[in-house]
Amino acid sequence: MKSKLILALMAVGCTLNAAAQEFDSVIIKQHVYTLASDSLMGRGFGTTGGKMAADYITAQLEAAGVMPWQGSYLHPFISSGIMVKTEGANIIGWVEGTDPLLKDEYIVIGAHYDHLAYKITDDGKRIVFNGADDNASGVAAIIEIGRWLAGSRNQLKRSVILAAFDGEEAGLVGSSFMVQHNQVPPKKVKIMFSLDMVGMLSRYGGIDLNGDKTLENGDVMLHNLASKHGLTVKKDGKNVVPNTDTAPFGNQGIPAIHIFTSTVSPYHKPEDDAEKLDYPGIAAISGFVADAAVQLSNAETLEPSRRFVAQQNTKLPKFGLRLGFGTSGQNYSNEFYMAKNIFAFQAGFYAKQRLNRRFALQPEIIYQTMGSKHTDGTLRTHEVSIPVNIRLSLSPASSASTFISNDFYIFAGPYYSYRFGGGLGGKDMDFDNTFRREDYGIQGGFGFEIMNFQLQISRFRSFRSIDRTTTIMPYGMMWTLGLRF
Ligand SMILES: [Zn+2]
Repeated sequence: MKSKLILALMAVGCTLNAAAQEFDSVIIKQHVYTLASDSLMGRGFGTTGGKMAADYITAQLEAAGVMPWQGSYLHPFISSGIMVKTEGANIIGWVEGTDPLLKDEYIVIGAHYDHLAYKITDDGKRIVFNGADDNASGVAAIIEIGRWLAGSRNQLKRSVILAAFDGEEAGLVGSSFMVQHNQVPPKKVKIMFSLDMVGMLSRYGGIDLNGDKTLENGDVMLHNLASKHGLTVKKDGKNVVPNTDTAPFGNQGIPAIHIFTSTVSPYHKPEDDAEKLDYPGIAAISGFVADAAVQLSNAETLEPSRRFVAQQNTKLPKFGLRLGFGTSGQNYSNEFYMAKNIFAFQAGFYAKQRLNRRFALQPEIIYQTMGSKHTDGTLRTHEVSIPVNIRLSLSPASSASTFISNDFYIFAGPYYSYRFGGGLGGKDMDFDNTFRREDYGIQGGFGFEIMNFQLQISRFRSFRSIDRTTTIMPYGMMWTLGLRF
């Protein structure tokens, strides 16, 4: 596979310099100045400014000779949040490959066009987040890459899809929708590039090719190509980047590469303006990506790297430590008084086994102490508990793969506990005659996971009385912190 790719590289080597020279930094600059002008009001997701940006990109792709994808450039979608529905649109064009078989395989070159809209200051002024580097730069690049590829169609065997994504800043909404709702068929996409912030080449001193090792020999090929274009590769990597539009593609097992000149611009600030960008730099990066597209479209095979496939197939559980604090009480349903809640504590281990994109199993083994306070004194138990929870991810787009852990979830499940000790009013509990050692019940709650940390809030309720003769049902609420190994 390696040798085939290198041969392909040599075969198209003669076209490289031509491609680089054909990218006009003046036109790129015009695109960025238009997209990042105040009149587009920061291109907010679902806003008038966003629609104006969509119209501009559509017109430019058409003028560039890029064909509409499945009859239309505009591919609208509705994103349903918890409180609001947002209407957005991806803009998709393509340059059809010439090989009768390979033209049904796609290379996706994408860039998000939305940004953070604007804010109104206390004295009523509108401050626009123009997002020149983030990401008018990438959109300008894909329009011009599209123009060059449309003019060089005879060099393409596979087809190339140019995609401008909406709703990236709101959580990769457009690119996730594109993949999950078949706006492009994920099974036929062989590789994806996200050009997200490519306007600071000279200031950064090179480019990052994060995720290049997800393609078999992708790093070798792209590093060679970059140096032919006079570009220094500053960083690359084996993982798909989670916080740009590469993620939804990577989650489907598609090799996905983030091309990036770092956050040296005023990142996510109103000062991210068009006059700060390096336009010859964007032209150089565009030439590099266009050549990469030609080369990849001609490669005999395009496969995910073995490491990436292994990463995708990893079904091994993850393990972590957990620590919880909360309150517990006991419901004396046969008595005329309520016991007061007391402090509860847990410490132990948990495992997480992903079942599919949305569901995971999370069993735990923990020590816990809990109880309640009433007229006879404080009742406190010490137990080993085994809760087994089913987790439902509410943000599966960014959490489906094994290497991206950033998730909001709800969970619920049964538990079993064994009391190995306890006391009531200073005396040991009599488990032989009065109290029961075994307990079971349910718990549930919600949690947030970012990187290696989990924060969960849960409630639990027992189905079994502690006491053998009356009804004393434990319950409680816990805040728990998890740390994955
Ligand atoms: Zn961005």
